[in-house]
Amino acid sequence: MNGAAAFRLVAWGWAGLALVAFAGLFFYTAPYGRYRAKTLRGSVNATVGWVLMETPSVVVFGVCFLVWRKEVGAAGWVLFTLWQLHYVNRAFVFPFRRRGGGQAMAVTVLLSGLVFTTINGYLNGRGLTGLGRDYPANWLLDGRFIAGSVLFAAGFTLNLAADRALLRLRTGDEAGYRVPHGRLFRHVSCPNYLGEIVEWAGWALATWSVPGLAFALWTAANLAPRARAHHRWYHHAFPDYPPERRALFPYLF
Ligand code: NDP
Repeated sequence: MNGAAAFRLVAWGWAGLALVAFAGLFFYTAPYGRYRAKTLRGSVNATVGWVLMETPSVVVFGVCFLVWRKEVGAAGWVLFTLWQLHYVNRAFVFPFRRRGGGQAMAVTVLLSGLVFTTINGYLNGRGLTGLGRDYPANWLLDGRFIAGSVLFAAGFTLNLAADRALLRLRTGDEAGYRVPHGRLFRHVSCPNYLGEIVEWAGWALATWSVPGLAFALWTAANLAPRARAHHRWYHHAFPDYPPERRALFPYLF
């Protein structure tokens, strides 16, 4: 089996694992944020944890482009820019905008996040730098690339706006929770998760690749069950929580 075939096999395996995680995460909620245990055996500062956990997405992906740059054409560099737009924000801006961020993050959450972002960074990086499909310059005019990029941009915008609205619910070092209101939250409890899912579905389409598909599946696997958990948590914590709101998809779920 040559390198590209082995790479494809691993990427399909990673996509398959996402489906298993999708089912499992309806029964297990990752213990960070509002589900953090009161006492933790091993922990790091949550802001530091977020930076460390998300950095491989920037660095591993970036190193692939540095090492195998001869394999990359104009379309690859546009995709590189989309990915890095999201991950530079997630790794180096978002963590510092969190409030109540001095709280602890369990080391197990940090480690599992590190593994996740390293694998995704590598698979997506190498998928665009010679081990995946070819991306000739005219890929930029392909309908899949154009539709995927539009979806990516729409999801990214929604994710950023909804994260910003949530972060503004707190002032100073306050760590409690409020009911979010406003147009983004009129229909769903977790518009930031909806934005993220749309964004990576757009990525899967724009790259038309197995690593892209795997990452989109993993994102949905992580965030759909968590949106349901958040939604239930809101109903439990706030008896007057807007009853018409859904968890993730307006009118549906
Ligand atoms: P949450 O929506 O749980 O929280 C986002 C931030 O807002 C946190 O700082 C949280 O504080 C705060 N917050 C949330 N709700 C309230 C509220 N009602 N009142 C006050 N503050 C609130 O998102 P996550 O922390 O799970 O994820 C952060 C980002 O990372 C999201 O954009 C998400 O899409 C993305 N992500 C992507 C994944 C993927 O697989 N691609 C996986 C996980 C996350 P606190 O932390 O104290 O709860």
